[in-house]
Amino acid sequence: MGLFNKIKNMFKDDHDSGSNLEQTFNSNEISSTDDLEVKDDLVSREDVQDEVKIYEKGLTKSRQGFVSKLVNLTNKYNKVTDEYFEELEEILIMADIGVNTVMSFIDRLRKRVKQEKIESTEYLKEVIVDELFIIYVNDEVLVNKINFSKTSPTVLLFVGVNGVGKTTTIGKLAWKLKNEGKKVLLVAGDTFRAGATKQLEEWSIKTGVDFVGREEGVDPSSVIYDGVDKAYKEKYDVVMIDTAGRLQNKVNLMKELEKINRVIKKVIPEAPNETLLIIDATTGQNGISQAKSFKEITDITGIVLTKLDGTAKGGIVLAIKEEVNLPVKYIGLGEAKEDLQVFDIEKYIYGLFKDMM
Ligand code: GDP
Ligand code: MG
Repeated sequence: MGLFNKIKNMFKDDHDSGSNLEQTFNSNEISSTDDLEVKDDLVSREDVQDEVKIYEKGLTKSRQGFVSKLVNLTNKYNKVTDEYFEELEEILIMADIGVNTVMSFIDRLRKRVKQEKIESTEYLKEVIVDELFIIYVNDEVLVNKINFSKTSPTVLLFVGVNGVGKTTTIGKLAWKLKNEGKKVLLVAGDTFRAGATKQLEEWSIKTGVDFVGREEGVDPSSVIYDGVDKAYKEKYDVVMIDTAGRLQNKVNLMKELEKINRVIKKVIPEAPNETLLIIDATTGQNGISQAKSFKEITDITGIVLTKLDGTAKGGIVLAIKEEVNLPVKYIGLGEAKEDLQVFDIEKYIYGLFKDMM
């Protein structure tokens, strides 16, 4: 069974009956008949349904933009022709998938059409979803889980240009981790921009986690040292460090990030556990360029793709995979606390293509 059908079976109509989702869980997840395990699983099944709804809602614009164009194309051409392929190529490029990715995708698709003698565009719709995402689903190199430390505070460093959503993402993640029972500390390493420290402090108050910050203009490394030191001494589970997003000068930014890494390692040699680069999905190819630049100047371990709710394109996830080759660990699907979600390719595909399923 192809990816398209697998995902359709997993999520479709689960709001009405819950039966498909239940089946998925019964067959794949529940291996023990232990009472406690079953209870845990009931909770997680509801969570999955809630998460699917957040994906659906956050991807509304992309469904109405990119995916509805695909549907219209299928309606316009019943049979697969050269004109059909030309228009398909255009639609995919417009969706921020990235030109190179689209070209190789179209080649693969043409081959399949020929080999399998596919004539109907209606059927090809499913093949398109399968082929577009197969590289993502089959790839085991890109682990999207956060690398939590078992022995000392987990240090998460957030980088990215101004306005992409670093501070907001830290706030949302603080809320999520706190709800999981973790002791969380936020560190205001953006001492450059007026109001940045206060913005993070407000998130710490809103989410009920602790905070370390100093006045504007001080050396970020000194604040960060204080924060990581406190986290270590007071046995926090997670420390999240905000930074300023200046990319005017690569050399300066590289030096600043090196210094930040040095002071973190003074306290915890194996930290930071993750350096997460925040990319604003609405910036398209510009976001891809940012990712390439940051990858050159520091060790990025993962991407947080924000503002997916604000784009009608929805294909940037594929461009990140093909052109940057870093795992997307979280996605932002709106401004509310619960709108930050662990990136899950299957929920993402469902949120995008559910109207076709
Ligand atoms: P920073 O400069 O990188 O720290 O960016 P901020 O955290 O200050 O965010 C800039 C703006 O983007 C704020 O208005 C946020 O509310 C908004 N924002 C962040 N993430 C998302 C998201 O996933 N969806 C939407 N719609 N807005 C977001
Ligand atoms: Mg900020």
